[in-house]
Amino acid sequence: MEAIRKPVPAAGRVFPQDRHNLELVANVRPHGWENPDPAPRYNMVVLGAGTAGLVTAAGSAGLGARVALVERHLMGGDCLNVGCVPSKSLIRSSRVSFDIRSADRYGVRSGGNGAVDFPAVMERMRRLRAGISGHDSAERFRSLGVDVFFGDGRFAGPDTIEVEGKALRFSKAVIATGARAAVPSVHGLADAGFVTNETVFSLTELPPRLLVFGAGPLGCELAQAFRRFGSEVTLIERGPQFLAREDPDAAALLHAAFLAEGIEVRLNTAVTSVSVAGGEKRVHLRDNEGSEDTVPVDEILIGAGRVPNVEGLGLETAGVRYDAAGGIAVDDFLRSTNPRVYAAGDVCLRHKFTHTADAAARIAIQNALFLGQKKVSALTVPWCTYTDPEIAHVGMYEREARERGIAVDTFEKKMSGVDRAVVDGEEEGFVKIHVRKGGDKILGATIVARHAGEMINEISLAIVGGIGLGALANVIHSYPTQAEAIRQAAEAYNRTRLTPFVKKILGGWLELTK
Ligand SMILES: Cc1cc2nc3c(=O)[nH]c(=O)nc-3n(C[C@H](O)[C@H](O)[C@H](O)COP(=O)(O)OP(=O)(O)OC[C@H]3O[C@@H](n4cnc5c(N)ncnc54)[C@H](O)[C@@H]3O)c2cc1C
Repeated sequence: MEAIRKPVPAAGRVFPQDRHNLELVANVRPHGWENPDPAPRYNMVVLGAGTAGLVTAAGSAGLGARVALVERHLMGGDCLNVGCVPSKSLIRSSRVSFDIRSADRYGVRSGGNGAVDFPAVMERMRRLRAGISGHDSAERFRSLGVDVFFGDGRFAGPDTIEVEGKALRFSKAVIATGARAAVPSVHGLADAGFVTNETVFSLTELPPRLLVFGAGPLGCELAQAFRRFGSEVTLIERGPQFLAREDPDAAALLHAAFLAEGIEVRLNTAVTSVSVAGGEKRVHLRDNEGSEDTVPVDEILIGAGRVPNVEGLGLETAGVRYDAAGGIAVDDFLRSTNPRVYAAGDVCLRHKFTHTADAAARIAIQNALFLGQKKVSALTVPWCTYTDPEIAHVGMYEREARERGIAVDTFEKKMSGVDRAVVDGEEEGFVKIHVRKGGDKILGATIVARHAGEMINEISLAIVGGIGLGALANVIHSYPTQAEAIRQAAEAYNRTRLTPFVKKILGGWLELTK
Protein backbone atom coordinates (compact mmCIF):
# COMPACT_ATOMS: atom_id res chain seq x y z
CA MET A 1 0.00 0.00 0.00
CA GLU A 2 2.48 2.58 1.17
CA ALA A 3 4.86 3.34 -1.65
CA ILE A 4 4.94 7.08 -1.06
CA ARG A 5 6.32 8.57 2.12
CA LYS A 6 4.06 11.29 3.40
CA PRO A 7 5.51 14.74 3.99
CA VAL A 8 6.37 14.69 7.70
CA PRO A 9 6.63 18.07 9.41
CA ALA A 10 10.04 18.53 10.99
CA ALA A 11 10.08 17.42 14.63
CA GLY A 12 8.49 20.04 16.82
CA ARG A 13 7.32 22.28 13.93
CA VAL A 14 3.62 23.02 13.57
CA PHE A 15 2.14 25.24 10.87
CA PRO A 16 1.08 27.99 10.72
CA GLN A 17 3.37 29.41 13.35
CA ASP A 18 0.80 31.68 14.98
CA ARG A 19 0.45 32.36 18.71
CA HIS A 20 -1.82 29.36 19.23
CA ASN A 21 0.57 26.92 17.65
CA LEU A 22 3.45 28.53 19.51
CA GLU A 23 1.51 27.93 22.73
CA LEU A 24 0.86 24.34 21.65
CA VAL A 25 4.52 23.74 20.90
CA ALA A 26 5.58 25.42 24.15
CA ASN A 27 3.51 22.77 25.92
CA VAL A 28 4.13 19.63 23.94
CA ARG A 29 7.59 20.25 22.47
CA PRO A 30 9.17 23.11 24.38
CA HIS A 31 12.08 24.79 22.65
CA GLY A 32 15.29 24.48 24.58
CA TRP A 33 14.08 21.43 26.49
CA GLU A 34 17.02 19.60 27.98
CA ASN A 35 16.71 15.87 28.19
CA PRO A 36 17.49 14.81 31.76
CA ASP A 37 20.36 12.56 32.78
CA PRO A 38 18.89 9.08 32.70
CA ALA A 39 18.39 7.13 35.91
CA PRO A 40 20.63 4.03 36.17
CA ARG A 41 17.56 1.89 35.50
CA TYR A 42 13.84 2.54 35.03
CA ASN A 43 10.88 0.42 36.07
CA MET A 44 9.23 1.60 32.86
CA VAL A 45 10.40 3.25 29.65
CA VAL A 46 7.65 4.37 27.29
CA LEU A 47 8.32 4.90 23.60
CA GLY A 48 5.89 7.45 22.15
CA ALA A 49 3.88 10.12 23.99
CA GLY A 50 0.47 9.81 22.34
CA THR A 51 -2.54 8.70 24.36
CA ALA A 52 -1.19 5.20 25.02
CA GLY A 53 2.25 6.48 26.04
CA LEU A 54 0.96 9.33 28.19
CA VAL A 55 -1.49 7.13 30.07
CA THR A 56 1.20 4.48 30.59
CA ALA A 57 3.71 7.04 31.84
CA ALA A 58 1.34 8.95 34.11
CA GLY A 59 -0.25 5.78 35.48
CA SER A 60 3.08 4.07 36.16
CA ALA A 61 4.56 7.15 37.83
CA GLY A 62 1.41 7.60 39.89
CA LEU A 63 1.90 4.10 41.26
CA GLY A 64 5.46 4.92 42.29
CA ALA A 65 7.42 3.57 39.31
CA ARG A 66 10.55 5.29 37.97
CA VAL A 67 9.48 6.22 34.44
CA ALA A 68 11.04 7.63 31.27
CA LEU A 69 8.94 8.83 28.34
CA VAL A 70 10.41 9.31 24.84
CA GLU A 71 8.74 11.40 22.12
CA ARG A 72 10.16 12.26 18.71
CA HIS A 73 7.67 14.95 17.66
CA LEU A 74 4.80 16.30 19.78
CA MET A 75 3.49 15.00 23.08
CA GLY A 76 -0.22 14.27 22.81
CA GLY A 77 0.39 12.31 19.60
CA ASP A 78 -2.25 12.11 16.91
CA CYS A 79 -5.31 12.63 19.10
CA LEU A 80 -4.33 16.06 20.35
CA ASN A 81 -2.34 17.35 17.41
CA VAL A 82 -3.66 15.85 14.19
CA GLY A 83 -6.61 13.63 15.09
CA CYS A 84 -9.60 13.73 17.41
CA VAL A 85 -9.19 17.22 18.83
CA PRO A 86 -8.71 19.22 15.61
CA SER A 87 -11.18 17.10 13.62
CA LYS A 88 -13.94 17.42 16.22
CA SER A 89 -13.33 21.15 16.44
CA LEU A 90 -13.80 21.48 12.67
CA ILE A 91 -16.85 19.25 12.75
CA ARG A 92 -18.43 21.49 15.39
CA SER A 93 -17.94 24.58 13.21
CA SER A 94 -19.33 22.76 10.20
CA ARG A 95 -22.45 21.76 12.19
CA VAL A 96 -23.03 25.34 13.21
CA SER A 97 -22.90 26.41 9.58
CA PHE A 98 -25.25 23.61 8.57
CA ASP A 99 -27.68 24.46 11.36
CA ILE A 100 -27.75 28.12 10.35
CA ARG A 101 -28.51 27.12 6.80
CA SER A 102 -31.28 24.86 8.10
CA ALA A 103 -32.65 27.56 10.42
CA ASP A 104 -35.71 28.24 8.29
CA ARG A 105 -36.94 24.73 9.06
CA TYR A 106 -37.19 25.82 12.68
CA GLY A 107 -38.96 29.08 11.99
CA VAL A 108 -35.78 31.01 12.59
CA ARG A 109 -34.88 33.65 10.04
CA SER A 110 -31.14 33.69 10.45
CA GLY A 111 -30.67 36.35 7.83
CA GLY A 112 -27.42 34.70 6.88
CA ASN A 113 -26.42 31.79 4.75
CA GLY A 114 -24.13 30.14 7.28
CA ALA A 115 -21.15 31.35 5.28
CA VAL A 116 -17.93 30.05 6.71
CA ASP A 117 -14.84 32.09 7.44
CA PHE A 118 -12.43 29.18 6.99
CA PRO A 119 -9.35 30.91 8.42
CA ALA A 120 -11.42 31.76 11.52
CA VAL A 121 -12.61 28.14 11.81
CA MET A 122 -9.03 26.95 11.68
CA GLU A 123 -7.89 29.57 14.15
CA ARG A 124 -10.62 28.50 16.58
CA MET A 125 -9.37 24.93 16.26
CA ARG A 126 -5.76 25.98 16.90
CA ARG A 127 -6.82 28.04 19.91
CA LEU A 128 -8.81 25.21 21.47
CA ARG A 129 -6.10 22.66 20.73
CA ALA A 130 -3.49 24.86 22.35
CA GLY A 131 -5.75 25.32 25.36
CA ILE A 132 -6.20 21.58 25.78
CA SER A 133 -2.50 20.85 25.27
CA GLY A 134 -1.46 21.82 28.79
CA HIS A 135 -2.80 18.48 29.94
CA ASP A 136 -0.29 16.62 27.74
CA SER A 137 2.58 19.02 28.35
CA ALA A 138 6.18 18.13 29.03
CA GLU A 139 6.09 20.30 32.16
CA ARG A 140 3.06 18.48 33.53
CA PHE A 141 4.69 15.11 33.00
CA ARG A 142 7.91 16.31 34.58
CA SER A 143 5.87 17.44 37.57
CA LEU A 144 4.36 13.94 37.76
CA GLY A 145 7.89 12.61 38.20
CA VAL A 146 8.35 11.34 34.63
CA ASP A 147 11.72 11.85 32.89
CA VAL A 148 10.71 13.29 29.51
CA PHE A 149 13.12 12.80 26.59
CA PHE A 150 12.64 14.32 23.14
CA GLY A 151 14.22 12.57 20.18
CA ASP A 152 13.91 9.43 18.08
CA GLY A 153 13.87 6.45 20.40
CA ARG A 154 15.10 3.03 19.35
CA PHE A 155 16.01 -0.19 21.06
CA ALA A 156 19.73 -0.75 21.53
CA GLY A 157 19.21 -4.18 23.13
CA PRO A 158 16.56 -6.28 24.88
CA ASP A 159 16.50 -3.96 27.93
CA THR A 160 17.75 -0.65 26.58
CA ILE A 161 16.26 2.19 24.55
CA GLU A 162 18.51 4.89 23.14
CA VAL A 163 17.51 8.49 22.57
CA GLU A 164 19.78 11.36 21.56
CA GLY A 165 22.85 9.36 22.58
CA LYS A 166 21.45 8.50 26.02
CA ALA A 167 20.82 4.91 27.07
CA LEU A 168 17.65 4.24 29.06
CA ARG A 169 17.85 0.85 30.75
CA PHE A 170 14.57 -0.67 31.77
CA SER A 171 12.95 -3.47 33.62
CA LYS A 172 9.84 -3.07 31.44
CA ALA A 173 9.06 -1.01 28.34
CA VAL A 174 5.90 -0.13 26.46
CA ILE A 175 5.99 0.59 22.74
CA ALA A 176 3.33 3.21 21.99
CA THR A 177 4.53 4.66 18.71
CA GLY A 178 1.08 4.83 17.12
CA ALA A 179 0.19 4.76 13.44
CA ARG A 180 0.20 7.06 10.43
CA ALA A 181 -1.83 7.59 7.29
CA ALA A 182 -1.39 4.85 4.69
CA VAL A 183 -0.66 6.52 1.39
CA PRO A 184 -1.73 4.48 -1.62
CA SER A 185 0.75 3.86 -4.36
CA VAL A 186 -0.84 5.80 -7.21
CA HIS A 187 1.08 7.07 -10.20
CA GLY A 188 1.49 10.86 -10.06
CA LEU A 189 0.07 11.32 -6.56
CA ALA A 190 3.34 12.32 -4.91
CA ASP A 191 4.19 14.82 -7.65
CA ALA A 192 0.72 16.37 -7.56
CA GLY A 193 0.84 16.67 -3.78
CA PHE A 194 -1.80 15.77 -1.22
CA VAL A 195 -2.71 16.23 2.42
CA THR A 196 -3.16 13.62 5.14
CA ASN A 197 -4.38 14.04 8.70
CA GLU A 198 -0.87 15.30 9.49
CA THR A 199 -1.15 18.29 7.19
CA VAL A 200 -4.85 18.99 6.63
CA PHE A 201 -5.17 20.80 9.97
CA SER A 202 -2.45 23.22 8.90
CA LEU A 203 -4.52 24.52 5.98
CA THR A 204 -5.34 28.20 6.20
CA GLU A 205 -7.32 28.47 2.98
CA LEU A 206 -10.32 26.43 1.99
CA PRO A 207 -9.69 24.31 -1.10
CA PRO A 208 -12.55 25.18 -3.48
CA ARG A 209 -12.56 21.61 -4.81
CA LEU A 210 -11.48 18.72 -2.60
CA LEU A 211 -11.16 15.06 -3.47
CA VAL A 212 -11.30 12.73 -0.48
CA PHE A 213 -9.61 9.43 -1.15
CA GLY A 214 -11.24 6.74 1.02
CA ALA A 215 -14.61 6.64 2.77
CA GLY A 216 -13.49 5.38 6.16
CA PRO A 217 -14.22 7.36 9.36
CA LEU A 218 -11.65 10.07 8.67
CA GLY A 219 -12.66 10.45 5.01
CA CYS A 220 -16.37 10.62 5.82
CA GLU A 221 -15.99 13.05 8.74
CA LEU A 222 -13.80 15.49 6.85
CA ALA A 223 -15.64 15.15 3.52
CA GLN A 224 -18.82 16.34 5.23
CA ALA A 225 -17.09 19.06 7.22
CA PHE A 226 -15.36 20.52 4.15
CA ARG A 227 -18.56 20.32 2.15
CA ARG A 228 -20.28 22.31 4.87
CA PHE A 229 -17.44 24.84 4.78
CA GLY A 230 -18.19 25.34 1.09
CA SER A 231 -15.80 23.06 -0.80
CA GLU A 232 -17.02 21.02 -3.75
CA VAL A 233 -16.26 17.55 -2.39
CA THR A 234 -15.82 14.29 -4.28
CA LEU A 235 -15.55 11.19 -2.11
CA ILE A 236 -13.93 8.15 -3.71
CA GLU A 237 -14.29 4.66 -2.28
CA ARG A 238 -12.99 1.47 -3.82
CA GLY A 239 -15.53 -0.70 -2.01
CA PRO A 240 -19.30 -0.84 -2.43
CA GLN A 241 -20.12 0.83 0.92
CA PHE A 242 -19.06 3.76 3.10
CA LEU A 243 -17.51 2.79 6.40
CA ALA A 244 -16.95 -0.75 5.18
CA ARG A 245 -17.39 -2.52 8.49
CA GLU A 246 -20.54 -0.67 9.61
CA ASP A 247 -24.11 -1.93 9.49
CA PRO A 248 -25.22 -1.56 5.83
CA ASP A 249 -28.40 0.29 6.88
CA ALA A 250 -26.28 2.81 8.79
CA ALA A 251 -23.97 3.33 5.83
CA ALA A 252 -26.95 3.73 3.50
CA LEU A 253 -28.43 6.48 5.71
CA LEU A 254 -25.15 8.35 5.69
CA HIS A 255 -24.88 7.92 1.94
CA ALA A 256 -28.28 9.54 1.52
CA ALA A 257 -27.30 12.40 3.85
CA PHE A 258 -24.11 13.02 1.86
CA LEU A 259 -25.97 13.09 -1.44
CA ALA A 260 -28.51 15.52 0.02
CA GLU A 261 -25.68 17.83 1.03
CA GLY A 262 -24.20 17.77 -2.44
CA ILE A 263 -21.19 15.55 -1.85
CA GLU A 264 -20.30 13.71 -5.04
CA VAL A 265 -19.97 10.10 -3.97
CA ARG A 266 -18.21 7.50 -6.13
CA LEU A 267 -18.37 3.99 -4.73
CA ASN A 268 -16.73 0.96 -6.41
CA THR A 269 -14.22 3.37 -7.88
CA ALA A 270 -10.43 3.33 -7.91
CA VAL A 271 -8.00 6.19 -8.40
CA THR A 272 -5.77 5.05 -11.26
CA SER A 273 -3.43 8.04 -11.49
CA VAL A 274 -3.08 11.72 -10.75
CA SER A 275 -1.71 14.39 -13.05
CA VAL A 276 -1.26 18.15 -12.90
CA ALA A 277 -2.32 20.49 -15.68
CA GLY A 278 -3.22 24.15 -15.80
CA GLY A 279 -2.51 24.59 -12.12
CA GLU A 280 -5.01 21.96 -11.03
CA LYS A 281 -4.74 18.34 -9.91
CA ARG A 282 -6.52 15.88 -12.15
CA VAL A 283 -7.57 12.66 -10.52
CA HIS A 284 -8.17 9.81 -12.96
CA LEU A 285 -10.75 7.26 -11.89
CA ARG A 286 -12.01 3.88 -13.03
CA ASP A 287 -15.12 2.24 -11.65
CA ASN A 288 -15.79 -1.49 -11.30
CA GLU A 289 -17.47 -1.57 -14.69
CA GLY A 290 -14.41 -0.13 -16.39
CA SER A 291 -15.80 3.39 -17.00
CA GLU A 292 -13.15 6.06 -16.72
CA ASP A 293 -13.45 9.65 -15.60
CA THR A 294 -11.25 12.55 -14.55
CA VAL A 295 -12.04 14.89 -11.66
CA PRO A 296 -10.19 18.23 -11.52
CA VAL A 297 -9.55 19.37 -7.95
CA ASP A 298 -7.48 21.80 -5.90
CA GLU A 299 -6.56 19.43 -3.10
CA ILE A 300 -6.51 15.71 -2.38
CA LEU A 301 -7.08 14.38 1.14
CA ILE A 302 -5.89 10.85 1.78
CA GLY A 303 -8.04 8.83 4.16
CA ALA A 304 -7.12 5.33 3.09
CA GLY A 305 -6.41 3.64 6.40
CA ARG A 306 -3.61 3.65 8.95
CA VAL A 307 -0.32 1.76 9.19
CA PRO A 308 1.55 1.16 12.46
CA ASN A 309 4.82 2.98 13.18
CA VAL A 310 7.24 0.09 13.53
CA GLU A 311 10.12 1.18 11.32
CA GLY A 312 13.46 2.28 12.70
CA LEU A 313 12.69 1.19 16.27
CA GLY A 314 15.45 -1.43 16.45
CA LEU A 315 12.83 -4.08 17.17
CA GLU A 316 15.05 -6.87 15.83
CA THR A 317 17.74 -5.92 18.35
CA ALA A 318 15.18 -6.20 21.13
CA GLY A 319 13.72 -9.50 19.91
CA VAL A 320 10.31 -7.91 19.35
CA ARG A 321 8.37 -9.49 16.48
CA TYR A 322 6.25 -7.23 14.28
CA ASP A 323 4.90 -6.88 10.81
CA ALA A 324 4.40 -3.79 8.71
CA ALA A 325 0.61 -4.11 8.49
CA GLY A 326 -0.38 -5.55 11.89
CA GLY A 327 2.26 -3.74 13.96
CA ILE A 328 3.86 -5.15 17.10
CA ALA A 329 2.87 -8.78 17.65
CA VAL A 330 1.39 -9.01 21.15
CA ASP A 331 -0.51 -11.65 23.06
CA ASP A 332 -3.81 -11.06 24.83
CA PHE A 333 -1.84 -9.51 27.74
CA LEU A 334 -0.16 -7.02 25.37
CA ARG A 335 3.21 -8.71 25.88
CA SER A 336 5.50 -8.82 22.86
CA THR A 337 7.92 -11.62 21.99
CA ASN A 338 10.38 -9.95 24.40
CA PRO A 339 8.83 -10.59 27.84
CA ARG A 340 10.13 -7.24 29.11
CA VAL A 341 8.44 -5.32 26.31
CA TYR A 342 4.74 -4.58 25.97
CA ALA A 343 2.83 -2.51 23.41
CA ALA A 344 -0.30 -0.38 23.56
CA GLY A 345 -2.38 1.76 21.23
CA ASP A 346 -2.47 2.03 17.46
CA VAL A 347 0.89 0.33 17.03
CA CYS A 348 -0.59 -3.04 17.99
CA LEU A 349 -4.40 -2.80 18.20
CA ARG A 350 -6.97 -3.55 15.53
CA HIS A 351 -9.30 -0.91 16.97
CA LYS A 352 -7.34 2.30 16.50
CA PHE A 353 -9.06 4.76 18.84
CA THR A 354 -8.01 7.04 21.64
CA HIS A 355 -10.18 5.24 24.17
CA THR A 356 -8.72 1.84 23.20
CA ALA A 357 -5.19 3.27 23.44
CA ASP A 358 -6.10 4.51 26.92
CA ALA A 359 -7.66 1.20 27.98
CA ALA A 360 -4.72 -0.79 26.58
CA ALA A 361 -2.24 1.41 28.45
CA ARG A 362 -4.00 0.61 31.73
CA ILE A 363 -3.78 -3.09 30.92
CA ALA A 364 -0.08 -2.77 30.02
CA ILE A 365 0.72 -1.04 33.32
CA GLN A 366 -0.93 -3.74 35.42
CA ASN A 367 0.49 -6.66 33.45
CA ALA A 368 4.00 -5.25 33.03
CA LEU A 369 4.59 -3.84 36.49
CA PHE A 370 2.31 -5.79 38.80
CA LEU A 371 2.08 -9.35 37.40
CA GLY A 372 -1.44 -8.55 36.22
CA GLN A 373 -3.37 -10.89 33.94
CA LYS A 374 -5.65 -8.36 32.27
CA LYS A 375 -6.72 -9.29 28.75
CA VAL A 376 -7.40 -7.06 25.78
CA SER A 377 -10.01 -9.52 24.54
CA ALA A 378 -12.09 -8.77 27.65
CA LEU A 379 -12.57 -5.12 26.63
CA THR A 380 -15.91 -3.88 25.36
CA VAL A 381 -15.03 -1.28 22.76
CA PRO A 382 -17.55 1.21 21.41
CA TRP A 383 -16.74 3.62 18.62
CA CYS A 384 -18.33 6.43 16.73
CA THR A 385 -17.91 8.15 13.39
CA TYR A 386 -18.74 11.79 13.99
CA THR A 387 -20.59 12.51 10.79
CA ASP A 388 -24.07 14.00 10.82
CA PRO A 389 -25.88 11.81 11.69
CA GLU A 390 -23.29 10.05 13.82
CA ILE A 391 -22.81 6.30 13.51
CA ALA A 392 -21.88 4.53 16.73
CA HIS A 393 -21.37 0.88 17.41
CA VAL A 394 -20.47 -1.51 20.22
CA GLY A 395 -20.07 -5.28 20.34
CA MET A 396 -21.05 -7.60 17.53
CA TYR A 397 -22.59 -6.80 14.20
CA GLU A 398 -25.40 -9.04 13.01
CA ARG A 399 -23.16 -10.47 10.28
CA GLU A 400 -20.41 -11.23 12.81
CA ALA A 401 -22.86 -13.15 14.97
CA ARG A 402 -23.99 -15.07 11.88
CA GLU A 403 -20.38 -15.88 10.98
CA ARG A 404 -19.82 -17.23 14.47
CA GLY A 405 -22.98 -19.32 14.32
CA ILE A 406 -24.73 -17.28 17.04
CA ALA A 407 -28.44 -16.80 16.46
CA VAL A 408 -29.63 -13.27 17.29
CA ASP A 409 -32.84 -11.34 17.70
CA THR A 410 -32.64 -7.69 16.69
CA PHE A 411 -34.77 -4.94 18.22
CA GLU A 412 -34.94 -1.67 16.36
CA LYS A 413 -36.39 1.74 17.02
CA LYS A 414 -36.39 4.43 14.37
CA MET A 415 -35.48 7.92 15.57
CA SER A 416 -38.49 9.23 13.64
CA GLY A 417 -40.65 7.57 16.31
CA VAL A 418 -38.86 9.25 19.23
CA ASP A 419 -40.54 12.47 20.39
CA ARG A 420 -37.35 14.36 21.18
CA ALA A 421 -35.76 13.49 17.84
CA VAL A 422 -38.92 14.72 16.11
CA VAL A 423 -39.05 18.07 17.92
CA ASP A 424 -35.32 18.51 17.44
CA GLY A 425 -35.76 17.92 13.71
CA GLU A 426 -33.26 15.08 14.00
CA GLU A 427 -35.37 12.11 12.92
CA GLU A 428 -32.74 10.45 10.72
CA GLY A 429 -31.46 7.21 12.18
CA PHE A 430 -32.22 4.25 14.37
CA VAL A 431 -31.18 2.22 17.36
CA LYS A 432 -30.59 -1.47 16.61
CA ILE A 433 -29.80 -3.81 19.46
CA HIS A 434 -28.85 -7.45 18.94
CA VAL A 435 -29.47 -10.01 21.68
CA ARG A 436 -28.80 -13.72 21.86
CA LYS A 437 -31.85 -15.44 20.37
CA GLY A 438 -34.46 -16.30 22.93
CA GLY A 439 -32.77 -14.26 25.71
CA ASP A 440 -31.92 -10.66 26.51
CA LYS A 441 -28.10 -10.77 26.67
CA ILE A 442 -26.95 -7.82 24.60
CA LEU A 443 -24.39 -8.85 21.97
CA GLY A 444 -24.06 -5.57 20.12
CA ALA A 445 -25.75 -2.41 18.95
CA THR A 446 -25.56 0.19 16.22
CA ILE A 447 -26.98 3.66 16.68
CA VAL A 448 -27.41 6.20 13.92
CA ALA A 449 -28.52 9.53 15.34
CA ARG A 450 -27.28 13.06 15.64
CA HIS A 451 -25.86 12.27 19.07
CA ALA A 452 -25.22 8.56 18.63
CA GLY A 453 -21.75 8.87 20.17
CA GLU A 454 -23.33 9.95 23.46
CA MET A 455 -26.10 7.37 23.29
CA ILE A 456 -23.92 4.31 22.65
CA ASN A 457 -22.32 4.63 26.10
CA GLU A 458 -25.53 3.39 27.71
CA ILE A 459 -25.33 0.16 25.72
CA SER A 460 -21.63 -0.23 26.54
CA LEU A 461 -22.49 0.14 30.22
CA ALA A 462 -25.17 -2.53 29.89
CA ILE A 463 -22.78 -4.94 28.17
CA VAL A 464 -19.97 -4.36 30.68
CA GLY A 465 -22.36 -4.58 33.64
CA GLY A 466 -24.09 -7.69 32.30
CA ILE A 467 -27.41 -5.81 32.19
CA GLY A 468 -29.87 -7.46 29.83
CA LEU A 469 -32.14 -5.68 27.38
CA GLY A 470 -35.16 -6.46 29.56
CA ALA A 471 -33.64 -4.46 32.41
CA LEU A 472 -32.98 -1.48 30.10
CA ALA A 473 -36.72 -1.33 29.45
CA ASN A 474 -37.19 -0.71 33.18
CA VAL A 475 -34.64 2.12 33.37
CA ILE A 476 -36.57 5.37 33.54
CA HIS A 477 -35.20 7.71 30.88
CA SER A 478 -35.86 11.44 31.21
CA TYR A 479 -38.57 12.56 28.83
CA PRO A 480 -38.05 13.83 26.24
CA THR A 481 -34.57 12.60 25.35
CA GLN A 482 -33.26 10.93 22.24
CA ALA A 483 -31.84 8.14 24.41
CA GLU A 484 -35.43 7.04 24.99
CA ALA A 485 -34.97 5.23 21.68
CA ILE A 486 -32.92 2.70 23.63
CA ARG A 487 -35.66 2.11 26.17
CA GLN A 488 -38.23 1.81 23.41
CA ALA A 489 -36.11 -0.81 21.58
CA ALA A 490 -35.86 -2.62 24.93
CA GLU A 491 -39.64 -2.47 25.35
CA ALA A 492 -39.97 -4.12 21.97
CA TYR A 493 -37.99 -6.98 23.47
CA ASN A 494 -40.23 -7.09 26.55
CA ARG A 495 -43.30 -7.31 24.37
CA THR A 496 -41.94 -10.55 22.87
CA ARG A 497 -42.18 -12.07 26.34
CA LEU A 498 -45.91 -11.56 26.29
CA THR A 499 -46.60 -14.93 24.69
CA PRO A 500 -50.17 -16.09 23.98
CA PHE A 501 -49.87 -18.34 27.06
CA VAL A 502 -48.82 -15.46 29.37
CA LYS A 503 -51.56 -13.30 27.83
CA LYS A 504 -54.12 -16.03 28.56
CA ILE A 505 -53.04 -16.30 32.22
CA LEU A 506 -53.15 -12.50 32.63
CA GLY A 507 -56.54 -12.40 30.93
CA GLY A 508 -57.84 -15.10 33.27
CA TRP A 509 -56.57 -13.18 36.31
CA LEU A 510 -58.22 -9.95 35.18
CA GLU A 511 -61.46 -11.79 34.53
CA LEU A 512 -61.36 -13.21 38.06
CA THR A 513 -60.55 -9.88 39.73
CA LYS A 514 -63.07 -7.72 37.79
C1 LIG B 1 -8.12 12.60 11.81
C2 LIG B 1 -8.27 11.62 12.93
C3 LIG B 1 -9.36 11.69 13.75
C4 LIG B 1 -9.50 10.81 14.81
N1 LIG B 1 -10.60 10.89 15.58
C5 LIG B 1 -10.76 10.03 16.61
C6 LIG B 1 -11.89 10.12 17.44
O1 LIG B 1 -12.76 10.96 17.24
N2 LIG B 1 -11.99 9.27 18.47
C7 LIG B 1 -11.04 8.32 18.72
O2 LIG B 1 -11.18 7.56 19.68
N3 LIG B 1 -9.94 8.20 17.94
C8 LIG B 1 -9.78 9.04 16.89
N4 LIG B 1 -8.67 8.95 16.11
C9 LIG B 1 -7.67 7.92 16.42
C10 LIG B 1 -6.74 8.36 17.56
O3 LIG B 1 -6.16 9.60 17.25
C11 LIG B 1 -5.67 7.31 17.78
O4 LIG B 1 -6.26 6.06 17.94
C12 LIG B 1 -4.81 7.61 19.00
O5 LIG B 1 -4.15 8.84 18.84
C13 LIG B 1 -3.78 6.48 19.20
O6 LIG B 1 -2.91 6.82 20.25
P1 LIG B 1 -1.47 6.14 20.33
O7 LIG B 1 -0.88 6.62 21.61
O8 LIG B 1 -1.55 4.70 20.08
O9 LIG B 1 -0.67 6.73 19.08
P2 LIG B 1 -0.30 8.22 18.66
O10 LIG B 1 -1.28 9.20 19.14
O11 LIG B 1 -0.05 8.14 17.19
O12 LIG B 1 1.07 8.52 19.40
C14 LIG B 1 2.25 7.88 19.05
C15 LIG B 1 3.40 8.81 19.39
O13 LIG B 1 4.61 8.09 19.25
C16 LIG B 1 5.58 8.97 18.72
N5 LIG B 1 6.65 8.16 18.13
C17 LIG B 1 6.58 7.35 17.05
N6 LIG B 1 7.77 6.76 16.84
C18 LIG B 1 8.60 7.21 17.81
C19 LIG B 1 9.96 6.98 18.12
N7 LIG B 1 10.73 6.16 17.40
N8 LIG B 1 10.50 7.61 19.19
C20 LIG B 1 9.74 8.45 19.93
N9 LIG B 1 8.45 8.71 19.68
C21 LIG B 1 7.89 8.09 18.63
C22 LIG B 1 4.79 9.79 17.70
O14 LIG B 1 5.45 10.99 17.39
C23 LIG B 1 3.49 10.01 18.46
O15 LIG B 1 3.51 11.19 19.22
C24 LIG B 1 -8.50 9.83 15.05
C25 LIG B 1 -7.37 9.76 14.23
C26 LIG B 1 -7.26 10.63 13.18
C27 LIG B 1 -6.03 10.54 12.31
